[in-house]
Amino acid sequence: MADDLSTTIAEAARLLADARDVTLFGHINPDADTLGSALAVGLALHRRGVVVRVAFGEPEDVPESLKALDTAGLLVHRDDVPQEPELLVVMDTGSLQRLGPLADRVERAKGPVIVIDHHVSNTRYGTLHCIDEHAEATALIALRLLDEMGVEVDEPIARCIYAGLVTDTGGFRKAGPAAHETAARLLQTGVDAYSVTRPLMDAHPFAYLGMLSRVLAKAELDERAAGGLGLVHAVVGMDDARDVRSEEVESVIDVVRSASEAEVAAVLKELRPGFWSVSLRAVSQVDVREVAQVLGGGGHRLAAGFTFDGAAEQVVAALKGALERVES
Ligand code: AMP
Ligand code: MN
Ligand code: MN
Repeated sequence: MADDLSTTIAEAARLLADARDVTLFGHINPDADTLGSALAVGLALHRRGVVVRVAFGEPEDVPESLKALDTAGLLVHRDDVPQEPELLVVMDTGSLQRLGPLADRVERAKGPVIVIDHHVSNTRYGTLHCIDEHAEATALIALRLLDEMGVEVDEPIARCIYAGLVTDTGGFRKAGPAAHETAARLLQTGVDAYSVTRPLMDAHPFAYLGMLSRVLAKAELDERAAGGLGLVHAVVGMDDARDVRSEEVESVIDVVRSASEAEVAAVLKELRPGFWSVSLRAVSQVDVREVAQVLGGGGHRLAAGFTFDGAAEQVVAALKGALERVES
């Protein structure tokens, strides 16, 4: 079977064993899973003397909280990515659209394009698909690949994998027994869980507190939305986000989703005037990936997102409409 994971992982390991030049991509607005996966595999290849670069399409700069994962300086600006990469590996990216301005490199690549991902909605772009929609994080599939390659997973590599795993599982709340066993293996290499997770999940500059209080003061609860299951939402306008990093804006959803009256939580993040990136979370019953897909986005059953052009009220109206269309 062409898509069997062990077969495609073995094939990916074989291709990487012969490679001299490898480009690895994460998705736009990168998180610890996409960059951790890319940097872990990148680091293993770099140590073998391969020319390695890791990049993502947007924004211009590396999010501050992820810089500590790049222990070998493999991250490059998107403008320094070759027009025709020799071998391309794309991590944690469900569709070409999620590569932003780097999407064209997939078509232009001279050699294979290996896609490593855990999104159910993966559109199967590229040439070789290592996709496991049951994996809690792409980092777990990246680790399988490293094992297949015979790489010694030491602390700098394990740190990258751990970062992806701990963030995508919501601090292991959504991790199964195998993922916990993997976490134990990673910690045994010397990864310091607290110092890895604090900058990724807990620490914010003081200005975060002010931003959060302004945004939360305007949050709204609609208990009748989503067929009576409830929607809570908050809006982070460009003014609210002016004094904070993207990390602070991205973490607002984790506070908003704590409202227990709502099955679904949403945070509207204004990227440009009237252009929004929306984060969706569900507790257990609503498949927010389906809701996001109705609106042109994607993601996972309990964590998804989409972008939208218009006023904030229009985004909320469209979201409520989509929530009625998707059965829970
Ligand atoms: P976020 O709320 O940005 O953390 O995103 C949650 C999940 O939704 C991620 O795993 C992404 O895969 C997915 N996602 C977010 N935004 C989009 C989008 N515009 N299109 C497709 N998938 C998205
Ligand atoms: Mn991701
Ligand atoms: Mn992921």
